[in-house]
Amino acid sequence: MFELPQGSSSAVDGQDDDHPIDLDKSGIQNAEFCHLLVFLYDQDEVVAPAPMEYFLSILKLSVLWRIPTAVKYVTNQLPTHPDFTPAIQIQLSRCRAHMGVVAFYKLVQLKSTITEFKAALAFNPPDVHHSFSCIDENICSRLWESFWWGGYAKQLLHPDNTKPPAAILLEVDASKGILSHMPPACLQNTMDAIWEDNPFNHEQEQIEEASRAISEWMAALY
Ligand SMILES: [Zn+2]
Repeated sequence: MFELPQGSSSAVDGQDDDHPIDLDKSGIQNAEFCHLLVFLYDQDEVVAPAPMEYFLSILKLSVLWRIPTAVKYVTNQLPTHPDFTPAIQIQLSRCRAHMGVVAFYKLVQLKSTITEFKAALAFNPPDVHHSFSCIDENICSRLWESFWWGGYAKQLLHPDNTKPPAAILLEVDASKGILSHMPPACLQNTMDAIWEDNPFNHEQEQIEEASRAISEWMAALY
């Protein structure tokens, strides 16, 4: 059953009692096979959240035997599973038999890329573009950097922050806090230069690339 191709004259594993399906020969654990049977025939009895082994067994065997509904079931359940750690995601992404290799890898990669990108953005304040009316460029630049590190970067890197980098900057109220002491023309020039350069595009591109990979993967399940 697990070997391809099988000639028309040879007996098929599982055909009769003399030719049983030999799971050991194929490297499949009894527990893995039992988990697949539970999913196929007794799913209602599974108490949530089922252990990770349950999902990983189903995933392994359903990819091997091409059971797309089972693959889809697992990939729908895993992202909300409490034990779906980055380590498990990487482990799955390295599994050659798994169709979602690109998608899982992209998800893990995306998260670390965005974290790195945010850190780089936070710790590298954009240059100030001073206006002709700027009286003291040093003080002006220091005000900007204080705002960037003490306000912008702090909010961007806060563990509870869900806003994208661009949104945080757009919501800045320049009439309050440190920025209110900066010459308005310098602030305007600086903001204009930031939006012209648009360093925030990078994050959007990464998200779009990962979304594409995940869509392709989902489409491949049918
Ligand atoms: Zn200035």
